[in-house]
Amino acid sequence: MAKATLSKLIYHFGNGKSDGDGTMKALLGGKGANLGEMSRKGFKVPAGFTITTEVCTYYYDNKKTYPTNLFSKDVPAAIKQLEKATGKKFGDNKNPLLVSVRSGARDSMPGMMDTILNLGLNDVTVEALKKKTNNGRFAYDSYRRFVQMYGDVVMGVQKRNENEHEPFDQVMDSYKESIGKHEDTDLSEDDLKEIIKRFTKLIKDRTGKAFPQDPAKQLEGSIGAVFGSWNNDRAILYRNKYQIPHEWGTAVNVQAMVFGNMGATSGTGVAFTRNPANGTNEFYGEYLANAQGEDVVAGTRTPLKIVDMAHDKVFAKTFKELEVVRKKLEKEFGDVQDFEFTIEEGKLFLLQTRNGKRTAQAYVKIAHDMVKAKLMKPEHAVTSGDPQALDQLLAPIFDTSDEKAAVAKDRLTVGLPAGPGAASGIIALTAKKAEDLVASGQKVVLCRVETSPEDLRGMIAADGILTARGGVSSHAALVARQMGKVCVAGAGDVTIDYEKKTLTCNGKTLREGEFIAINGTTGAVYGRKVETSPSELLQVLVNKTLKPADSKLFQYYDFVMKLADKYRTLGIRTNADQPDQAANAIAFGAEGIGLCRTEHMFFEGDRIDSVREMILFAEDFAKYKLESEEAAATGDAERVAALKGEYAQAIEHFHGALAKLLPVQQQDFEGLFAAMGERPVTIRLLDPPLHEFLPQAGAQIEDLAKKLGVKYERVEALGHNLHEFNPMLGHRGCRLGIVYPEITEMQSRAIARAAIAVAKKTGKKVVPEIMIPLIGFAEELKNQLDIVHRVFAEEQKIAKVKMKYLVGTMIEIPRGALTAGEVAQHAEFFSFGTNDLTQTTLGMSRDDSGKFLPYYQRLGIVKANPFASIDQNGVGNLMEICIERATPVRPGIKLGICGEHGGDPATIAFCHKIGLTYVSCSPFRVPVARLAAAQAAIRATRAAAGAKPVKAKVKAKAKAPVKAKAPAKKAAKPLAKRAAAAR
Ligand code: ADP
Ligand code: MG
Ligand code: MG
Repeated sequence: MAKATLSKLIYHFGNGKSDGDGTMKALLGGKGANLGEMSRKGFKVPAGFTITTEVCTYYYDNKKTYPTNLFSKDVPAAIKQLEKATGKKFGDNKNPLLVSVRSGARDSMPGMMDTILNLGLNDVTVEALKKKTNNGRFAYDSYRRFVQMYGDVVMGVQKRNENEHEPFDQVMDSYKESIGKHEDTDLSEDDLKEIIKRFTKLIKDRTGKAFPQDPAKQLEGSIGAVFGSWNNDRAILYRNKYQIPHEWGTAVNVQAMVFGNMGATSGTGVAFTRNPANGTNEFYGEYLANAQGEDVVAGTRTPLKIVDMAHDKVFAKTFKELEVVRKKLEKEFGDVQDFEFTIEEGKLFLLQTRNGKRTAQAYVKIAHDMVKAKLMKPEHAVTSGDPQALDQLLAPIFDTSDEKAAVAKDRLTVGLPAGPGAASGIIALTAKKAEDLVASGQKVVLCRVETSPEDLRGMIAADGILTARGGVSSHAALVARQMGKVCVAGAGDVTIDYEKKTLTCNGKTLREGEFIAINGTTGAVYGRKVETSPSELLQVLVNKTLKPADSKLFQYYDFVMKLADKYRTLGIRTNADQPDQAANAIAFGAEGIGLCRTEHMFFEGDRIDSVREMILFAEDFAKYKLESEEAAATGDAERVAALKGEYAQAIEHFHGALAKLLPVQQQDFEGLFAAMGERPVTIRLLDPPLHEFLPQAGAQIEDLAKKLGVKYERVEALGHNLHEFNPMLGHRGCRLGIVYPEITEMQSRAIARAAIAVAKKTGKKVVPEIMIPLIGFAEELKNQLDIVHRVFAEEQKIAKVKMKYLVGTMIEIPRGALTAGEVAQHAEFFSFGTNDLTQTTLGMSRDDSGKFLPYYQRLGIVKANPFASIDQNGVGNLMEICIERATPVRPGIKLGICGEHGGDPATIAFCHKIGLTYVSCSPFRVPVARLAAAQAAIRATRAAAGAKPVKAKVKAKAKAPVKAKAPAKKAAKPLAKRAAAAR
């Protein structure tokens, strides 16, 4: 960075004025910007100045040096101005100016960086302070605090290893002990003098340097220390965790001190303008009399409730003032404020304010209440919530006191919190058992080593799912989220013995039929029943046991969602396979189905038998076709006839199975179409490797053999044939339809017939979107497309109707993305199947990644789990390349995403940026997606309006293919416009 390009290094505030304001958080940090804003708005704020974050950036860009003249001119000039504002003098022996030096990043990083109070005190000024206040104890208490903070933060006198105590604490504690005093407040002026002596000696012993008496030196050292604290270990860790850019830097605030430790009429406190836990409009916070700085938070003394201040004889008047401040803060800052205050001999000063962090429940209530009261801007109501946290609103909850008791006595282990909420019920170790117990009216937690599609019905029946193996994107977790089930996955301490019907964990053994409870929000597993209550939102939206009018929480939630929808341009669809899932998704606000996995339907009722029949004989049937075609080509009619006999069993079973499946699949699709009305429904043709459908255990094989009228060994042998070395990359996706076109035909026909039937019955326009999975070659798609179009033509002709339908593909193989220009010639839409696209692009098997990905995350090789949040530089870039190549060929092509990533807020923001039409996620993620999509839209608009370079970049990517024909909601948003147009 070139030196000397910084213009204004310092901004002043105080006495009702300020150079900066609340919008300048990037330059002045959150604290500095808001101190300025408060000052302008007439709040009583001690005067001070802010050194900008640019100075911090400069400091790190230039080998920890400062802009020329910072300490020779700028800071002294600023101090002069502060002296004028306060009528005090820095280092004066009569009326000394004392200041605090405070850190303050753009986003608050509570407690991560350093702050120094009472700066300016030395052996001379402390006496002046004593004389002026007529309070020696107070003066020396302040000095003691300053020497301690300065020694620690600036001079680095800290514990040298884990086993040591904080050296200053140790000095003070041992002194207190030697004189038999316990509380800091018990210490006399002379005690404090002695402690200060020992402190300065400690500093000298440890550092070889004397504690500086010169206030200018103290100031320079402290400012440097605060800039330095931007890169202390905990600050770096915090930024990594919350993804705050390391380039931002911190500002430094130098502010005149006010004293809460001046005696009984002084004090300090921290308060929220509303209850941040549940959103109630009540004053919330704590205070302490005769205390300074962080005494309230530090927990050394127990603070009092702020509302009790009303009855405090000393502070009743201040409380009235605080009530006014509370109202005014909300009005001026447009959100719930979390603020710090200090009372100096009855006078109230504000030292900080920021938007308060809150739970999801509080968030929706506050947004509703404050927008309605015109205290909060609607746009802010949308952007200030954490989409992910909305999950909290859906989760059934454990009774708080009962869970507390369970934590103390009955907690077995803690697994991965995979599906939020609380479930308490009887242990069932098999899906069948779960179903039976539920049928008999019990609540059940299905406990498995891991789950497979075969367990689906048990998972549907159970209230919660516990697995010993598998991660947060394992089958159990995925299905649990889709169904909104509570799930704790990968509880490694749990051993399940299916034979003995026991679950053992850390020495405790439970039997099937006994109670267990799991907390899917924390991962805790309890060895007994814990009382629960269902979420109010689900009672309204899904169970419909509660009327919207009777649920305040629902009304608040609904208010926020509708608000979000006003800003959102991305469409929101859902991944659903069944009418009830679809209905739930609609209740949550889904606008269509983005992924119906047809194979999930195969496990309903006894259709699995027909599916298995189809699968078992498919290979032989394909062989038969091949051989008879070859025979026919050579004109060998005899051989053709013979083959018919040879393969009679395969032909009969394969055709028979398809014939049985056609009507049931049609019925499935009818249900789905009926539930969705005119909303689009994307149906993916058969995708998984066939062996996944086969029975594993001997008894099941025997049962199937009997039903099909074939020998046990035959079924077993056919099953063996289907074994694959790497099923994820094996015979699956469109490769099935290419080898067995009859399956594609059957499924297409079922879709066409269902759409025609439902359209006829309901008079609604049903628009099916048929999706061909795992395309790598345009020719594959062409092959399957021909079948679909032929079947649809036939069915329309028979029914004498004309209908609209789309045929598109999933993009989940890098080759498909790279050749998108060719694929798009045939596909009417793309849906990014990001689960497989991530697996195939990274060359990582999701189900095996649990062994190494946690290490990758710990080492920082990957920031987030690429199977949960899209890997933007890799997979995301491939998506962009795909779009760039597809859009010139088919302008305005519908683009969706249907992987697990579709419900992840960061991914949703990315999808908005690259111009997707919609995201599709599990029904219970729909609210999260709605809010995240609205936030992405608002942020993109702001970025486009604010930062020119960002806008240019976004535009450059979108260029030619953008077909912005729909009227835009907001200006300058080409990508979002396209999304809205295509939705
Ligand atoms: P943090 O960001 O860790 O909260 P702060 O800079 O807010 O650090 O300061 C820590 C404590 O010191 C707060 O309680 C604050 O109110 C108090 N404090 C800071 N500056 C002053 C001041 N000028 N006068 C009185 N108290 C102050
Ligand atoms: Mg603070
Ligand atoms: Mg896939």
